[in-house]
Amino acid sequence: DCVPNRTVKLVVLGASGVGKTALIVRFLTKRFIGDYEPNTGALYSRTLDSEDLSLQIQDTPCVSLQDDEGLYCQEQINRSIYWADGYVLVFSITDLRSFHTVQPLYQHVRRIHPTGNIPVILVGNKSDLLRARQVPSHQGETLATTLGGVYFEASARENHVSVHGAFLHLCHEVIRSFGS
Ligand code: GDP
Repeated sequence: DCVPNRTVKLVVLGASGVGKTALIVRFLTKRFIGDYEPNTGALYSRTLDSEDLSLQIQDTPCVSLQDDEGLYCQEQINRSIYWADGYVLVFSITDLRSFHTVQPLYQHVRRIHPTGNIPVILVGNKSDLLRARQVPSHQGETLATTLGGVYFEASARENHVSVHGAFLHLCHEVIRSFGS
């Protein structure tokens, strides 16, 4: 009697090395492994009994929209963006360039979904590396507001609670969007 009647589909987008895979693995397994296959683009499927929902999370293999890998990656990302109900936009607080890729990625999502509300969160990952911080929290908050989402600082490495809170928030936003 605990069969979820709706699947929440999320895609995780962000520059290479920001910790997309680490965040997904942390969320779904509560673990941090340390070394991840680069550019997996795997699709993860889980049921969250506590929330009575089934969940699919798409990791993305290539990031930079101007990637030399070209059309293959672009097409794969486009398909994922088209497919998803909610978007996790990730940068690393230790990497200013990764912060600057967020807005173009969001604009790309907007081109694929030109109308309507887009459930989105912005995650500043690697918050355990405070001494290497290049992006202040208030910049993350400002950008998130611009995108119409909430900003979370998280550490896939050190802190399960921060990661869990961010993903769960987005799941609830997506479920709310189903109702409207
Ligand atoms: P992706 O390319 O965005 O999927 O990034 P990965 O998940 O492969 O992570 C890239 C690197 O950053 C790996 O060496 C991870 O161990 C490391 N990493 C990921 N998340 C964190 C974090 O929260 N803190 C720290 N210190 N390192 C992290």
